[in-house]
Amino acid sequence: MASSIQYAVIGLGRFGSSLSKELTELGHEVLGIDRDEEKVDEMSDILTHSVVADATDEEVLRSLGVRNFDCAVVAIGDNIQASIMAAILLKELGVKTVVAKALTDQHGKVLEKIGVDRIIFPERDMGIRVAHQLVSPNLLDF
Ligand code: ATP
Repeated sequence: MASSIQYAVIGLGRFGSSLSKELTELGHEVLGIDRDEEKVDEMSDILTHSVVADATDEEVLRSLGVRNFDCAVVAIGDNIQASIMAAILLKELGVKTVVAKALTDQHGKVLEKIGVDRIIFPERDMGIRVAHQLVSPNLLDF
């Protein structure tokens, strides 16, 4: 079996909670972070660790030892300022791979400038995926 990877997922909204749950089911360790206590409570039985914290606070990220994780995912969308700040801090702390979700092209451009390793545009990426599925010959099997 492939060895377990340690992920930190910041923001446990629809995207972050679904991503972190799936990573856990795939056998990996996930630390979920959200400033909303309700979101953290909902995920506490599912994830390896979950904490209520503000990911734009450098001291908080340091004390959680986030820099030792293999990969950190910034799954904050609406609050672009918080998304950018969290991404900057994760890169500065030296997290090896930083992934972030972007809602607009502008948001994505800023994340790219910061040095985010992989930028995800959920709706755009899903549209492309579904298009490929719709032209797949296996579609008629559904
Ligand atoms: P989704 O579509 O995945 O539900 P969204 O794109 O609407 O999310 P937001 O609602 O802005 O994105 O953020 C997702 C989660 O990130 C929320 O649960 C929110 O509480 C959390 N979040 C926002 N800012 C911070 C922060 N500074 N620190 C920690 N968590 C945060």
